Amino acid sequence: MPQVGFACASLGMPCEWSLRSNSRTELMERIKEHAVCAHKMTEISPDLAHKIEAAIHTI
Ligand SMILES: [Zn+2]
Repeated sequence: MPQVGFACASLGMPCEWSLRSNSRTELMERIKEHAVCAHKMTEISPDLAHKIEAAIHTI
């Protein structure tokens, strides 16, 4: 099963955070947590969710 990865910098954030996971669903959850904790976002807008989906890549 391929891993999926995400780098916060790929959204244009000045942020070094990146993550990989075996599960796309889990990865998305962790990204949301990071957005809230590290970037003070209160919610993930549909537009941002779309950008995150597009930035998730198979490793
Ligand atoms: Zn970040």
